[in-house]
Amino acid sequence: MSLTKDEIIALLKDETHQQDLFDKADKVRRQYVGDEVHLRGLIEFSNICRNNCLYCGIRRGNAKAVRYRMSEDEVIETARRAVNLGFKTIVMQSGEDMYYDTSRMCRIIEAIKKFDVAITLSIGGRTYEEYKAFRAAGADRYLMRIETTDKALYHKLDPKMSWQHRYECLLTIKELGYELGSGIMVGLPEQSIESIAEDLLFLKEIGVDMAGIGPFIPHPQTPLAKEKGGTLNLSLRTMAIMRLLLPDINIPATTAMESLAPNGRIQALKAGANVVMPNVNEGEYRKLYELYPNKDCTQTAPAHTKSAVVQKILSINRTIGTGYGSHRK
Ligand code: SF4
Repeated sequence: MSLTKDEIIALLKDETHQQDLFDKADKVRRQYVGDEVHLRGLIEFSNICRNNCLYCGIRRGNAKAVRYRMSEDEVIETARRAVNLGFKTIVMQSGEDMYYDTSRMCRIIEAIKKFDVAITLSIGGRTYEEYKAFRAAGADRYLMRIETTDKALYHKLDPKMSWQHRYECLLTIKELGYELGSGIMVGLPEQSIESIAEDLLFLKEIGVDMAGIGPFIPHPQTPLAKEKGGTLNLSLRTMAIMRLLLPDINIPATTAMESLAPNGRIQALKAGANVVMPNVNEGEYRKLYELYPNKDCTQTAPAHTKSAVVQKILSINRTIGTGYGSHRK
C-alpha cells in the first residue's frame, strides 16, 4: 500500500482512531502472511560492545554492566537446545564485539547450520568481506536497525558512529543476498513524528524483509536515564503503518513492547506483527544482556519462556509457524 508522508503523519498522530489502524493492519497481515506466528530463538551471546550509543544499557561507557562472552561451544550448545525446543530460526545477537572475528563467527555459523535452521545475525557493523564470509558460511538473514533516519539525531545519540556507514552496511547486506532486517526506535529524545514518518518511508524504500519497531526505554545507567521514553501506543501505530506499507514482510512483536505492558506483545500481534523472538539464553546470561530495563522473561528457563509465548499466541487464535518463516515475496 502506498501512503504519502502526510498521510503517515496523520495516522501516527491519530490516537482517537488507532484501533481502526490496528484492525486494518491485522487484516492486511492475515491476507498477506496468514495466521502463523514465527518463533525465532534469540541467543544473546556477548554483551561487550565497542560502541557507546547513549540509549543503550550495554554501551562501552557503562562501567556497571556485568560483561560476558559465550564460548563457541556455549553458543552452539545453546542453539542445539533451542532447536530441540522446536525453533526453526536462530538469531545470534551481540554488541559489536570483535573477539568474534571472521573465522570464529564462521565456525559457529557452520556448526549451527548443521541443525537445519535458518540463521539470523545481529552483530552490527562489519566489513564487506566479513558479511560475505558469514553468508558463505550459512547465515541467511542479517538484522541491523538504522534506529533513526534523522542523521543529526543519530550522530548525537551514537557518538563516533556514521549513519552513512550503517546505511551502506544495509545495502551491502542486501546485495549479498541476505534477508535484510532493519528497524527503528520510537520515542527517542528530540525525535519528531515527521522523522518517524520518514523512517517508515526509508524502510520501505530500501525494501526490508523484516522490520523491528520498538519503543525507546531509558536505561538508568545511561546518559538518557532521565528521558521520557517512547509509548506503547505510538510504537504500535508505527508498527501497524509499517504493515500497511510493506504487507508481506516479517514484523516482530518486540520484547521492548512487552516490557512496557504485560500484554504488549499480544497487542502487537493483533496490530500487524507475525514474529516473536523468545530469548533462549540459559541462566545468568539471560539477565546480563540489558539493553533497557525490565526486559521480559529474564528469570525463566528457555523451555518455560517458549511455552508461555506459545500459550499466549494460541489464546488469540493464531498458529505457530512450522517452517523457517522466511519473507514470502
Ligand atoms: S546499541 Fe548496539 S552498537 Fe550501540 S552500544 Fe548498544 S550494542 Fe553497541
